[in-house]
Amino acid sequence: MCKQTAEGDIFEPGLMPCDEALSRIINGVSLISGSEIVPLEKACCRTLHGNVVAEANVPAHTNSGVDGYALYAADIAEDCSVRFLIKDTVLAGQIFRGHIGRGECLRIMTGATVPESLDTVVMQEHVEIEDGFIRLNHRYKAGKNVRHAGEDIKIGETVLEAGRRLTPPDVGLLASLGIGEVEVRRRLKIAVASTGNEVKLPGQPLLAGSLYDSNRYSLMAALSRPDIEIIDLGILPDNVDSLLQSFNDAGKQADVIIASGGVSMGDADYTKMALHQSGLVDFWRVAIKPGRPLAYGRIGEAAFFGLPGNPVAVMVTFYFFVLPAIEKMLGISDQPIVPVFKARTTEDLRKLPGRTEVQRAIISRDEKGDWQVRTSGRQGSGMLSSMSRANAFIILDHDRERVKVGEWVDVKPFSALF
Ligand code: AMP
Ligand code: MG
Repeated sequence: MCKQTAEGDIFEPGLMPCDEALSRIINGVSLISGSEIVPLEKACCRTLHGNVVAEANVPAHTNSGVDGYALYAADIAEDCSVRFLIKDTVLAGQIFRGHIGRGECLRIMTGATVPESLDTVVMQEHVEIEDGFIRLNHRYKAGKNVRHAGEDIKIGETVLEAGRRLTPPDVGLLASLGIGEVEVRRRLKIAVASTGNEVKLPGQPLLAGSLYDSNRYSLMAALSRPDIEIIDLGILPDNVDSLLQSFNDAGKQADVIIASGGVSMGDADYTKMALHQSGLVDFWRVAIKPGRPLAYGRIGEAAFFGLPGNPVAVMVTFYFFVLPAIEKMLGISDQPIVPVFKARTTEDLRKLPGRTEVQRAIISRDEKGDWQVRTSGRQGSGMLSSMSRANAFIILDHDRERVKVGEWVDVKPFSALF
């Protein structure tokens, strides 16, 4: 079934291709300077300022990988039926300082240090115990079940590189090296505004002709992450002077300003007018649907993004144009891999060549385990419900035409975005 879209479908020449808009944006922003030291428990999702070099071996000591019996493997090389006297027991956290002779073994728990004279740990499941002796019921190679000092990380090794956005395992890795705090890039300050006289605060009564502000909330939610500090500029009226005043103030404290609404061709599209007066902003009509109008430039020290007003267009332009700029400014060098993979569409999709089209969709597996995709409902650029229901975007390239049932399309799962 074809999905009718809410917007007109007439191809407009002269729109800027998405790739060009994105590369202009990326070229226009640069890495922020400044760092801070944070304790490890606040380090996840922050960007490393410098390389981290190991100042300790991991593991620090040669230790047992299992609960069992440490022994000297040459003793069982010939004959695995030999018996070993259980000389003593060592638990994790203890050091055994005695001596284990030939024909003897040490009862040892996982993580306990293996004495230097022993080279193998036999799992307790692989022995029979009689009269204080063990006998192996399993063949064993020398070195088995022993974790050697430095086998994971060696002193002097670079374990994490500058620009890495720290993940939960990275934080664990730093802790395993004994590092309690880490130098990370400072947080990026992002000011967020909604514009429009009709736009009202949720929780207030809705007057005739008004609607609730959803854009500022979806944007602030998308920006709620440990490496970003949000400056909430609230809802700004359709008035050139107050817009200019708010944007200029924000330009003094923020690295990025994101506003929505007022950038299209309407009579009350004052964001555009206000920005014309600041003189440093480009307006583009980008060949993407939804999300055509996009203002981009600079106000004071801040990069400025004027997103469309329609709520889905806001989300699409945020993920496709603003987020890559944010990651560049934060110096995230190992971009998280946002998988775009192919799925078969289970319905026809309307598409005009000459623009990138992004549709909200639901991906799932078919009976053979292959990925399939269908749209998540009506695709009007103001309709957030189909966006909320979706778990992925379908991305149809610039030149693609109408898509038939069973064809492959590119999908980008939301789990990679939020
Ligand atoms: P504009 O580009 O300002 O003409 O806005 C386009 C459409 O998006 C209009 O229907 C606006 O009412 C709507 N809109 C603008 N800002 C918001 C907002 N913050 N939340 C929800 N809808 C909005
Ligand atoms: Mg408006």
